[in-house]
Amino acid sequence: MQTKLPKISEKRIALHVSRVAERAIRSGHPWLFENAILKQSHQGKMGDLAVIFNKDRKFLGIGLFDPESIIRVRILRALKPATINQQFFEEKLRTAHQHRALLCDSDHTNGYRMVHGENDGMPGIVIDRYAETAVIKLYTPAWIPHLNDVVAALKNIFPFERIVLRLSGNLKENKYNLFDGMILDGKMLIDPIIFLENGLKFEADPQKGQKTGFFLDQRENRARVEELAKGKSVLNVFSYTGGFSVYAGRGGAKEVISLDASKVATDVAKRNFSLNQPASIMESTVHTIVTGDAFDAMTKMKKKGRLFEMVIIDPPSFAHKKSQVEGAIRAYKKLTRLGVEILAPNGILVQASCSSRVDSELFFDSIHLAARQAGRQLNEIERSEHALDHPIGFPEGEYLKCLFATAR
Ligand code: SAH
Repeated sequence: MQTKLPKISEKRIALHVSRVAERAIRSGHPWLFENAILKQSHQGKMGDLAVIFNKDRKFLGIGLFDPESIIRVRILRALKPATINQQFFEEKLRTAHQHRALLCDSDHTNGYRMVHGENDGMPGIVIDRYAETAVIKLYTPAWIPHLNDVVAALKNIFPFERIVLRLSGNLKENKYNLFDGMILDGKMLIDPIIFLENGLKFEADPQKGQKTGFFLDQRENRARVEELAKGKSVLNVFSYTGGFSVYAGRGGAKEVISLDASKVATDVAKRNFSLNQPASIMESTVHTIVTGDAFDAMTKMKKKGRLFEMVIIDPPSFAHKKSQVEGAIRAYKKLTRLGVEILAPNGILVQASCSSRVDSELFFDSIHLAARQAGRQLNEIERSEHALDHPIGFPEGEYLKCLFATAR
């Protein structure tokens, strides 16, 4: 380990919690909220181990303490005591690894999610693999004192060249900022990493890129786009580094436009397309970049009478809290309207949402409604949710949904 990280306190915090929290823990929920704590042994520090008891002093679980979040404890083990150490994490990693055997053993894919937080029994931490690089992303700083153990465990599962640390957006704004992009182990990163997804090459920048460098959760939806793209003109809205575009190219699309507000992202999209172009059918696909606001660009295309045979809309999360859900639905509907207005008769609309706050049914209904209001009827081809490496183990964990439909 090349970096000094804070050490774990020897002293554990004892917490006594309400009956409501007890029921949630017994049913397997991984979070203990601040307002459920009735008694706390001492103040404690970020990342201390917290031992949770019910009102009758019966053991309920052990987890990581975060004094700065309303999710006060992320539970590592419920109902059965455990020693939280390297071996404990190694067992979790091994189980997660086995669950992904189909991906881990593939010659075509070496970029995928190794650990999906709560859903793999490691709440508040995500680990993505990009070829020989692992990227650990934290959603709570409570993991920081445990990273030595996690890194040692990870190296026993796979001989990574390097392990990079990333922090979620809300943590980057404060004193934890210095940890974001840190190399926890192994070689410095000089050039972007090239990894494989379904045999296609992509570049990722795990130190500065969005998420951990790539949107690994869309792999299967991208493969579906490839199957549907033959001979089509495709508009990929919110393209980021061109994931959907490259698949559409391999699927035989005649034209692909990647549209995103970030120039860094569209520059990479251009490179990702070229990385794959020489060796395949993509040679004949014309790929164009548009850097700008999605709503403005689509409106301009509509005014010009531009029509596509496939429009893919995969925006960022519009709802981080409950109060933003209404606004998010309005934005999704506006995007659907704009999308179908530039869609040729019987063209395909692919629209996704990554907001866990937005319920799937509400999302799909809103798309249908918006399309009807724009005078188009959608015939569904498919609805998709989470892939194998993004399992869902609790209600709040569900976030991704995507609709494939033709517009009459
Ligand atoms: N579809 C992508 C992931 C999209 S993430 C993939 O498969 O990899 C959301 C993207 O939306 C980001 O790249 C972000 O730069 C872009 N974005 C956010 N707001 C935007 C806007 N108003 N107009 C265009 N792009 C925007």
